[in-house]
Amino acid sequence: MRREDFFKNKIVLVTGGAGFLGSHLCERLVEAGADVLCLDNFFTGSKRNIRNLMDYKNFELIRHDLVQPIFLEVDLIFNLACPASPIHYQHNPVKTVKTNVMGTINMLGLAKRVKARILQASTSEVYGDPKQHPQKETYWGHVNPIGLRSCYDEGKRLAETLMMDYKRQNGVDVKIVRIFNTYGPRMAVSDGRVVSNFIIQALRGEPITIYGDGSQTRSFCYVSDMIEGIIRMMTCEDFAGPVNLGNPVEVSIKSLADLVLEMTGSRSELVYKDLPENDPVRRQPDISLAKEKLGWEPMVELRDGLNHTIEYFKDVLECP
Ligand code: NAD
Ligand code: UDP
Repeated sequence: MRREDFFKNKIVLVTGGAGFLGSHLCERLVEAGADVLCLDNFFTGSKRNIRNLMDYKNFELIRHDLVQPIFLEVDLIFNLACPASPIHYQHNPVKTVKTNVMGTINMLGLAKRVKARILQASTSEVYGDPKQHPQKETYWGHVNPIGLRSCYDEGKRLAETLMMDYKRQNGVDVKIVRIFNTYGPRMAVSDGRVVSNFIIQALRGEPITIYGDGSQTRSFCYVSDMIEGIIRMMTCEDFAGPVNLGNPVEVSIKSLADLVLEMTGSRSELVYKDLPENDPVRRQPDISLAKEKLGWEPMVELRDGLNHTIEYFKDVLECP
């Protein structure tokens, strides 16, 4: 069966479907002929992200907060609901924990009741400030349980625990992907993560804010590559994960700033600010498992991905 045929006529729930990744995923599923239920409370998501989908007969929007139970009949669940940027998830940390724990329990309860396969969007943050480099799935991480990032890091770790316990205890068909920094069109202007911040600052001619000395590294995956990885994981049989999904090309934050300045032709100056608490020094996925199990690896080069993202933010800043 072709991968896209897997979704045809299936009822697919995407929580966080009006967010950055969720909206791209919904689009892909609508194209694949799935009956898509997009659930969102619009904390960080927006109707703008999904407005091109609203006319499709096989797309439906449910405004709902995942912390509250919901009764639906579905075949597949992609559980993406959770603010992803540090500014957003630290805005109401208790709510972040509730979304990851109670929200995930609600989705696992639903999966158990209707026998749906469920995929959890986990994160590279489960590795914390890693002592192993690059990070493999077998690494247990180095996470501060009481810091500012803990609501997210520990919330996602517990979401993973819940997935594996529902699998062991109730036989739920679960899948876990650990997503590394992903960027692209539809990131929120208020997102605060580095790629959108630098592009917006460069386009507005405002100072580019480098936290720390800019020597810390991240690996940036373009959104279309990430969605392909997530789709492959959902369609893959007999493999629960967790599996790392991300781009292994590691870049320093300073070199990203230089690249954005060059590509936008901006004359913004670089300003150095304090490094946030517990900001990881290095992050780079080991994607051998994704290559082996899913035949997946990123295809889009940083320059090409940045190009699309810069064009997107030009539009958004012109017509908010
Ligand atoms: P996003 O903030 O754009 O999307 C999250 C969506 O979830 C938003 O639409 C938001 O309104 C919704 N949401 C939040 N809390 C909710 C709740 N209680 N009930 C219902 N809806 C709720 O973030 P994103 O970048 O699209 O991230 C999607 C998922 O991927 C998240 O689970 C995130 O943790 C994970 N992830 C993303 C990245 C990344 O680089 N983008 C990296 C690692 C993990
Ligand atoms: N960062 C930065 N300037 C910004 C936003 C972020 O220098 O305006 C840094 C941040 O301190 C971190 C890196 O860029 O070291 C990636 O941050 P982001 O918030 O994008 O993601 P995460 O820390 O979750 O990987």
